[in-house]
Amino acid sequence: MHELSIANSVVELCAERAMGARVLSVTLEIGRLSAVMPDAIRFCFDVCAKDTVVEGAALEIVETPGRARCLDCGGSVAMTDLLDRCECGSVNLELLAGSELKIKQMEVV
Ligand SMILES: [Zn+2]
Repeated sequence: MHELSIANSVVELCAERAMGARVLSVTLEIGRLSAVMPDAIRFCFDVCAKDTVVEGAALEIVETPGRARCLDCGGSVAMTDLLDRCECGSVNLELLAGSELKIKQMEVV
């Protein structure tokens, strides 16, 4: 499962950054086009955090919308799906946002 390995790396990164302190909360930014299911991450996060300094930490997930620039007409395109097209019909799009997955914030004791 894709989400399990992601959750595992998030927990590992947080534990490393916390340097022995207890992690209270983690804010994760997940792009809508990243094909990552927030609910699955939430579930896997709790499983992976068990017996680490991250155990019991509140996980907040911020979903960022997809956005692209059309390389043909220069227009800005709101993406809800990787198969979206520009209003001009072009599929020649440069993805600007929406595929990211990063730890935005972390709170430790
Ligand atoms: Zn266009």
